Amino acid sequence: MLNDADRIYQNLYGQQGWNLEAARARGDYAGITDILARGRDPLIEELKTSGMRGRGGAGFPTGMKWSFMPKQSDGRPSFLVVNADESEPGTCKDRDIIRHEPHKLIEGSLIAGFAMGANTGYIYIRGEYHNEAERLQAAIDEAYGAGLLGENAAGSGWDFNLYLHRGAGAYICGEESAMLESLEGKKGMPRMKPPFPAAMGLYGCPTTVNNVETIAGVPTIMRRGATWFSSLGKPKNSGTKIFCISGHVNKPCNVEEELGIPLRDLIDKHCGGVRGGWDNLQAVIPGGASSPILNKEMCDTQLMDFDSLAAVKSMLGSGAVIVMDKSADVVKAIWRLSKFFKHESCGQCTPCREGTGWMMRMMDRIVQGHATLADIALLEQVTTQVAGHTICAFGEASSWPIQGLMRAFAPMVRARAIDYTPALQQAAE
Ligand code: SF4
Repeated sequence: MLNDADRIYQNLYGQQGWNLEAARARGDYAGITDILARGRDPLIEELKTSGMRGRGGAGFPTGMKWSFMPKQSDGRPSFLVVNADESEPGTCKDRDIIRHEPHKLIEGSLIAGFAMGANTGYIYIRGEYHNEAERLQAAIDEAYGAGLLGENAAGSGWDFNLYLHRGAGAYICGEESAMLESLEGKKGMPRMKPPFPAAMGLYGCPTTVNNVETIAGVPTIMRRGATWFSSLGKPKNSGTKIFCISGHVNKPCNVEEELGIPLRDLIDKHCGGVRGGWDNLQAVIPGGASSPILNKEMCDTQLMDFDSLAAVKSMLGSGAVIVMDKSADVVKAIWRLSKFFKHESCGQCTPCREGTGWMMRMMDRIVQGHATLADIALLEQVTTQVAGHTICAFGEASSWPIQGLMRAFAPMVRARAIDYTPALQQAAE
């Protein structure tokens, strides 16, 4: 288990205060002026060396992402955008950071803005996070009051303004280019890429979008060093991650752990085990709604990091672990996710707009026991025609849960159809 001293988030459960005084007592903002005095490139290099990968879902190396921002302005300003539109079903980690450690996010935004040459940052928070938005705004106000934001932020000679923007509840606004559209006051619809945001992002200017947990982890990396961070976790999967464990466990929780922890340890040590014991486990969705489901045999030995989950054709995603014991109808659970994705498609490209509804209706048929084996084969084929053929990754996000179900629970899915096929044929005859 991760040592308490190695936890980035010392107040994840809100047992201490959230405000500036309490944050400073925990070490936030310590030496911030000296950190910024190191200069842009050394900060980016430190982050690259740490091996930090984005904590929002894609797992792209953060230092490299920052390095894509222009070193010299061509006259356009650069922007930092923090993605706090936490909407992936099962995910509730950024909420706790914002509620209990908002100053880590603010300090991280200042460092990130400075390192990428941005004088302005926006935090885009999902509309439903009303209380969290109030808390974060209060923390931002405190930081301005203490000279940690605004002109000559933290005495660094760098001006940095940070604005909080509330969304209106659309899942797709968590996609980075849709987020930029929404920030500009338009409908939150993903953009074609390229150009990528680092070249042409918010208002057509260089922009980097990072997740809350990614940015909030930066100050500790800068203070404790890249070597400390990379000593945790596994090679290429370094550091700690907040896992959100929900479903059929005895004590659902958010917990910060090292990447690469065995899934079983995560559940047994932090959540009091699966309801009814490990042998009562049926399935786990390991990284939020769009990550392909794992069956019990896969869970027995699964490690929780980017590459180990990719090796079984699933993904770490946001680190939202949804546990299902043997009482769950996993086919129905995946149908419910299909319904969610159908509802959240922005509708601008045909494979996604039509495909998500089609996939949901086919899943419904399987749940009802009204699908044939041919229907199941056709559904699998349709998922491959949606994934990879859309403007944004929503095509994959909506297809992968079904593909995962077909891989991990093929006999169960087929069993639902095997009874129906002869009955249908008989009726037709
Ligand atoms: Fe919109 Fe879906 Fe196309 Fe993404 S894949 S742009 S959500 S229609």
